Amino acid sequence: QVLSQVLPEQPDLRIIRRKITNYVGFANLPKQWHRKSIKKGFNLNILCVSQTGLGKSTLINTLFNKNIYNEENGSNIVNSTTDNLDKIKLEDDNNTISNEESAENTNTDNVSSNNGNNKHNSSNGNSESNQPNVRIESVSTIIEENGVNLRLTVVDTPGFGDSIDNTNSWEPIIKEVDSRFDQYLDAENRINRSVIEDNRIHACLYFIEPTAHFLKPLDLEFCKQIHEKCNLIPIIAKSDILTEEEIDSFKRKITKQLQEAGVKLFKPPHYELDDKETIKLTDELYNKLPFAVVGSTDLVVNGEGKQVRGRSYPWGIVEVDNANHNDFVYLRDYLVRQYLEELRERTNNELYENYRSEKLTKLGINQDNLVFKEFDPETRQKEDKQLHEAKLAKLEAEMKSVFQTKVSEKEKKLQKSEAELFARHKEMKEKLTKQLKALEEKKHQLEMSIANQMTSSPAQKKKGFLR
Ligand code: GDP
Repeated sequence: QVLSQVLPEQPDLRIIRRKITNYVGFANLPKQWHRKSIKKGFNLNILCVSQTGLGKSTLINTLFNKNIYNEENGSNIVNSTTDNLDKIKLEDDNNTISNEESAENTNTDNVSSNNGNNKHNSSNGNSESNQPNVRIESVSTIIEENGVNLRLTVVDTPGFGDSIDNTNSWEPIIKEVDSRFDQYLDAENRINRSVIEDNRIHACLYFIEPTAHFLKPLDLEFCKQIHEKCNLIPIIAKSDILTEEEIDSFKRKITKQLQEAGVKLFKPPHYELDDKETIKLTDELYNKLPFAVVGSTDLVVNGEGKQVRGRSYPWGIVEVDNANHNDFVYLRDYLVRQYLEELRERTNNELYENYRSEKLTKLGINQDNLVFKEFDPETRQKEDKQLHEAKLAKLEAEMKSVFQTKVSEKEKKLQKSEAELFARHKEMKEKLTKQLKALEEKKHQLEMSIANQMTSSPAQKKKGFLR
């Protein structure tokens, strides 16, 4: 759509469809693609933003059917130390749950046996932000399902919204998202681009407190700040504490507030070949936003005597994986089952590209041809070169300024010590002059007394002598 706005109008192209008579072999392409994807594996980086206690850890564990957050710590902050990545088997057919760990998995290098299995990095947080209360922590794990590996990273933001004054508490989070874009940009500009690790955030789950009223100013402000950097997926946390009517009206209010604030949520795209039914289903799913979810990894027995994940209450049970009870399954469709690739694609093609072009503009690089970069390797190369040169120039300028500051500091120091030396010299000179004067005075007095004695009478001399 963007291209059609920018590209000059194309002449009418006639596509002639013909069936070839001889087998060429490109019908095998999907298989090749499939094999390559399986080999490479997939990755998904999710940013979770929530006040403490809204059920974030529970929901993530529920989504991936895995204790991604280490329960033993009694907190959300994972303290694991090993770099081993854990593999689990995620089975979920017809709401039947299996928590089986895939101990029999082939690649034993990646299998760890204890709960210190998550890879955890704490970054940016305190040191880089002005907000000491918001930290950035990430947990990575490899999930395996039917031979397909998904490397999942959950970026957590403990402390968000927990202070009395939450002004600017989104800043460390935005910084983290930006710094992940920067990392990717740097990697793209390196000579060896063959293996670029994609640490960019592919989706942001924003947990809304189930108040049934309105979004709070902090919620709105955060959504405004993040929606152009990440695929934003708002969710109403712990929705089982609200009635159906309350959820419907809360959803309407939230949607209205977000629309009025110009916040764009992630919307699955329509494809050319999509039939009406598919388009309808996609739109219906989108219209369910914000998803009102319930999280739980506990197994309970439902009315049909089946073991299902859910929460048990005196008045009945809430089934996590039942679309009639809450929107958990829609969230899972959005995030993993149906649109994982679309989330990654939008991150790369739209959100990252916008960030990249904005960055280039800030560096003073001409953007005229930017839209064509995907299609024109030469332009792309030129841009990269310009970007690299601009970076070098910036680095050089920074180094120069550091050098100048250091030189001027040294000069000032030298001047200061010179002045001190001068003052000490002056003081010493004055002291010596005084001493000299005193000595001269003494000498003069002595000379005078000698002269007096010489000139006095012999009787006086004698007297003086006798005395
Ligand atoms: P976090 O601090 O946001 O990570 O929250 P936790 O996942 O640790 O959950 C805090 C408490 O809320 C725990 O007692 C959970 O059992 C409970 N909880 C989690 N999800 C839900 C939910 O969907 N509904 C209800 N009613 N309680 C929940």
